[in-house]
Amino acid sequence: MAKRRANPRRRDCVACGVCVLQCPNGAIHVHRGCYAVVDEQLCMGCGLCGQACPADAIDLMDVKQEGNNGNN
Ligand code: SF4
Ligand code: SF4
Repeated sequence: MAKRRANPRRRDCVACGVCVLQCPNGAIHVHRGCYAVVDEQLCMGCGLCGQACPADAIDLMDVKQEGNNGNN
């Protein structure tokens, strides 16, 4: 099954930090006060950040699984 993760678009992000507060995994942060960045390892693709983003700057995208370590 494809994993999904959040993919903030830098050109649309206004660095408000709302997504950071919403994420239950601490998977997203605002890089140097400029734009949101997601940690692929922590993001579970729940979509809460995208729903909360006032700039509608976060897409959910499918991520290819690299191999299978038995954890998915
Ligand atoms: S999709 Fe969910 S887990 Fe991933 S960054 Fe957004 S709020 Fe966090
Ligand atoms: S909520 Fe949206 S606009 Fe605000 S920092 Fe996150 S991605 Fe950027």
